[in-house]
Amino acid sequence: MKANHNRLLVLDDEPGICEFVGEVAEGLGFEVSLTTQAAEFRRRVSSFEPSVVVLDLQMPEADGIEQLRFLGETGCDAKVLVVSGMDTRVLATAEHLGRSLGVDMLGTQQKPLMLDVLEATLERALVSQRTITAADVRRGLDEHEFTVYYQPKASRIDGRWVIDGVEALVRWKHPKLGLVLPDEFVAVAEDNDLIAAMTDLVFRDAIANCASWRDAGTPLAVAVNFSPRLLTDLAFPDRLNDLIQEFGADPALLIVEVTESAAMIEPATTMDILTRLRVKNFGLSVDDFGTGFSSLKQLYRMPFNEIKVDSSFVREMERDPEARTIVETVVYLAHKLGMTACAEGVENENTLEILAELRCDRVQGYLISQPVPADRIAEIAASWNDSGRTGLRLAWSRDES
Ligand code: C2E
Ligand code: CA
Ligand code: CA
Repeated sequence: MKANHNRLLVLDDEPGICEFVGEVAEGLGFEVSLTTQAAEFRRRVSSFEPSVVVLDLQMPEADGIEQLRFLGETGCDAKVLVVSGMDTRVLATAEHLGRSLGVDMLGTQQKPLMLDVLEATLERALVSQRTITAADVRRGLDEHEFTVYYQPKASRIDGRWVIDGVEALVRWKHPKLGLVLPDEFVAVAEDNDLIAAMTDLVFRDAIANCASWRDAGTPLAVAVNFSPRLLTDLAFPDRLNDLIQEFGADPALLIVEVTESAAMIEPATTMDILTRLRVKNFGLSVDDFGTGFSSLKQLYRMPFNEIKVDSSFVREMERDPEARTIVETVVYLAHKLGMTACAEGVENENTLEILAELRCDRVQGYLISQPVPADRIAEIAASWNDSGRTGLRLAWSRDES
């Protein structure tokens, strides 16, 4: 077994850039391998087994696109970051091309490389040094170690952002590892037929809380993530309906989030399930919009109520005009199709203000709150919503008149 799972391979013809990226990565805990030669790079892809590859797009002999193709063809599972001095449009094209070649794209970055951006990007690619197995997850389920956190969602109402909903996010309170995030175990659950049990427990918790928030006088819409693996489960809408009955909850307050790419896997069955959910009056949301390849026609035909703009665009929109254009376009598209738009990953006031200008309907992100246990939601909603009323957030009510 490799000692360090975080292994970074850099290919750039400028040795200075290689060293800079290498130093940043080492600081984050990566084991690093640097090369300025395309042929050497290809050898190290198999000998070094990188978890992350940083690739310069413009190389003297074989350019970065050729390397992307090589990574795709050899089935390399590293996450790839493409860097180049070329304009952002070229970088965006390279990213799309990489994805279509089957490469797991970490993103792109324009040169000169900014230390903080590079660090944040590489940090996202850090994998935990531990591997969670199906047996662990099964045991965790049996021992009731999984729990649900909730992250507030705010809607723009009369020129203010008002918390009126939450997203349910599963957490694992592991006896030895502490709080484990879904990125470490959802895929394991999906690959081992454990995701249905996990999803059922999340829905149960979400529906129970939804009913109790309503009974306490603060009705909140609750969104739950629905694994693509379950989109073939034709009995799901009825099971959900039974749960709603059991807790006396309101289906209109329950939103099922399905990722854009999931919705396109088996459009016929997906459409069957989604339509039945809509008929039962549940809300439907397209998650991570902008990262998949859905056609507008398919999107138009699916009975969604909400589009969630992927956080990668939202987090970039402050400094990247193209990301801002994408967000603006998705908001426009959502409205044209009769849906609301929700931006996720809102981390600062400035982004919130831009989103108000773009007439985005809903927002979610660390600025409002991190995901928290259910019993903290009422207090967070009350203090956020009250501060709005005192006029602190009146800055963006002017565009409302
Ligand atoms: P997602 O549905 O896109 O959920 C949003 C993720 O972004 C959450 O991570 C949340 O903590 C994080 N986030 C929220 N605001 C911000 C922000 O301002 N900045 C940044 N950088 N991140 C923010 P989390 O909870 O780790 O969940 C990761 C993914 O795991 C989710 O992505 C979802 O795809 C999946 N997941 C979570 N819970 C469930 C579940 O119950 N069932 C299934 N099938 N998947 C789940
Ligand atoms: Ca989601
Ligand atoms: Ca999302």
